[in-house]
Amino acid sequence: MSAVLTLTGVHSYYAKSHILHDLDFSAEAGEIVTLLGRNGAGKTTMLRSIMGLTPAREGRITLFGQDITRRAPFQIAAMGVGYVPEGRRVFGNLTVEENLLVPVSAPVSAPSGRWTLARAYELFPRLQQRRQSKARTLSGGKQEMLAIARALLVNPRLLILDEPSQGLAPLIVRDVFRTIREMRGEGITILLVEQNVRAAVEIAERAFVMDDGRIVWSGRASEFAADEERVRALAGASTKAVHAA
Ligand code: ATP
Repeated sequence: MSAVLTLTGVHSYYAKSHILHDLDFSAEAGEIVTLLGRNGAGKTTMLRSIMGLTPAREGRITLFGQDITRRAPFQIAAMGVGYVPEGRRVFGNLTVEENLLVPVSAPVSAPSGRWTLARAYELFPRLQQRRQSKARTLSGGKQEMLAIARALLVNPRLLILDEPSQGLAPLIVRDVFRTIREMRGEGITILLVEQNVRAAVEIAERAFVMDDGRIVWSGRASEFAADEERVRALAGASTKAVHAA
C-alpha cells in the first residue's frame, strides 16, 4: 500500500486560536479512513488544512508523495482531490445538470478523465430523473448525492467528505454509505468525517478519533467497532446513529 495523504506534526490556527495540535494522520491508496470526534473537535479544520483553506502553520502535509503544505486550494484540488464540504453547498438556482457541468468546465487537470456526466447519472439515476430541476428543490439526500457526483466529475483520486449523512433520514443515510462503498470499489481513496460513528466504523478500514484538536485514538475501524463502550461514548455525542448496511 502507498500513502495517498499524510499529515505530520500539523498545527493550525484561526488567527491566534490554536485549533489543531501536532496531528499525525495517513490514508493509504484505496481505503476508507474515517475521522471521528465530537462537535468542535477540529475535524473540519483538519480538512480545511489539507485543502489549503486554513494552511498548517507548522508540520507537513503530503499528497501522492508531494509536499502540499504551502500550496493553494486550487492547486491541491487540481492534483485530484474532490472535497464535499459540510452542508453540501450546491448551487440552488442552477439545475442539477448545470451543477454537474460546473467542474467539467473548470480548468482542472483530471488525472484519469474517467468520470463523465453519463457515468455520474448511471451511479445516481435519481439525479438523472431530476436533471432539469433547480438544485434547491431537491431533498437533502439528493442534494448530498449531487454534491458527491459533482466532486466525482473532477476525477478525484482522493475524495474528502465532511459529514455527508448530516440531516438525512436513516434510509437515505444508507444510500449515501452504499455510494461511498461503490466509490471505494472504483479505487478512490476516501476520507470520511462523520458524526454517525457506527455507520462510519462499519464502512471504514481505519479510524482516527479527534478531541480538542488532537488525535486521541487511531487504529483499525473494526477494532474501534468492537469496543462497544468506546463507540457508545462517542456515538452518544452525535444526534443519531444509523448502521451502514
Ligand atoms: P463540527 O462537527 O461541529 O463541524 P468539527 O470537529 O468539524 O466540529 P471545527 O469546525 O474544525 O470542528 O472547529 C474546531 C474549533 O475551531 C471549534 O472550537 C470552533 O469553534 C473553532 N472554529 C471553527 N471555525 C472557526 C473560525 N472561522 N474562527 C475561529 N474559530 C473557529
